[in-house]
Amino acid sequence: KPGVVIVGAGMAGVQTAVALREQGWTGPLTLLGAEPHQPYDRPPLSKAVLLGKAEDSAFDVDFEGLGIELRLGTEVTGLRAADRMLDTEAGPVPYEVLVLATGAAPLTLPGTGGVPGVHLLRTLDDAARLRPVLAAAPEVVVVGAGWIGAEFATAAREAGCAVTVVEAADRVLAGALPAEVAAPMARWYAGAGATLLTGAKVAGIEEGRVLLADGRELPAGAVVVGIGARPATDWLDGSGVERGPDGSVTADAHLRTSLPGVYAVGDCASFPSARYGTRLLVHHWDNALQGPRAVAANIVAGEAVRAYDPVPYFWSEQFGRFVQYAGHHGGADALLWRGDPDGDGWSVCWLRGDALVAVLAVGRPRDLAQGRKLIESGAPVDPARVADPAVPLKSA
Ligand code: FAD
Repeated sequence: KPGVVIVGAGMAGVQTAVALREQGWTGPLTLLGAEPHQPYDRPPLSKAVLLGKAEDSAFDVDFEGLGIELRLGTEVTGLRAADRMLDTEAGPVPYEVLVLATGAAPLTLPGTGGVPGVHLLRTLDDAARLRPVLAAAPEVVVVGAGWIGAEFATAAREAGCAVTVVEAADRVLAGALPAEVAAPMARWYAGAGATLLTGAKVAGIEEGRVLLADGRELPAGAVVVGIGARPATDWLDGSGVERGPDGSVTADAHLRTSLPGVYAVGDCASFPSARYGTRLLVHHWDNALQGPRAVAANIVAGEAVRAYDPVPYFWSEQFGRFVQYAGHHGGADALLWRGDPDGDGWSVCWLRGDALVAVLAVGRPRDLAQGRKLIESGAPVDPARVADPAVPLKSA
């Protein structure tokens, strides 16, 4: 019998395989990954691995010992659900139960494809290409002031590069945070000696320079494009798997897809959040750790026993700050500051009614940990206490 087959050997795929064994799946288990490398963790790629402080970030998992058949360098090109069959360049692969964990692919700037010196930052190969670039310390232009752009700019400044970050929106992190919260974070760029240009649209990139729509020209020994990522699901065209306009596989509350016996998890999948009353597509590490545990429980039970309704969590390390976020502030009706946004540590709490729904903590890990528990419990909070950085968010 073919057993469980997982497509994508990133965090979500590997964690699904490990969780299946931990939770008692004894049948055959196959993990197919397009990349040739031993499966690895991505967050270090914009941090220690990029700066050469760590050689690589391979997962510490004994695939052989766990009886996980790992097939690397194997891109899956199609899914024939009626036959319970996957197509790969190396031939068809049958499955009993299938898990889609193909992650996301970075968005590119149209027309900049083959231009020398233009980089993305998603894979180990990307990081390996960028390492000597940073060591040579050229003038670097970063396109996009999101999480990845900020982390890359941090590393490039640390490596001694002159850094200009070009952002089309009128502020940093425009897709993630309200203007009021993003404002102090934008000041971190100048503090680290990087130049930030907001409202600046890239008109073209040529070797050695970036052209802006307003006519400005920026010299660029290297360009890093960090403008977001889209679920890597094109290979599912024609398969019958339902997908949303954002390209995500639209999983249900148990991370099942529209096809029988097929689950989806991690960056490639969106899911309905009962907690937040909306569908969420989360592109963060913790989602690729927690989601797999629910998928594994449902596969092992052979039925939908475990719903997935997390309080999403992520962190980012930028400009010497440790930034953490838990929850989802989409439906919040109040925003409260804890501390001085120009100081070393501050937090922002979002409330809906009298409940905490999200927290952003800069250099205040205790706020994050306590806030996360409050969000999970849904317990009412006192706004005066929340706004006072001198008292803990939650009493012991
Ligand atoms: P991926 O990690 O993208 O893995 C999917 C795998 O599937 C890939 O290896 C891909 O090659 C493979 N694949 C795709 N298509 C196919 C196919 N057709 N056939 C076979 N294989 C296929 N999150 C945080 O919370 N904090 C951080 O600080 C942070 N830093 C990050 C830094 C960087 C540079 C990046 C890129 C991401 C970072 N993230 C961070 C996000 C986090 O790494 C992702 O959310 C996580 O990797 C998602 O895991 P995944 O397995 O769903 O997808």
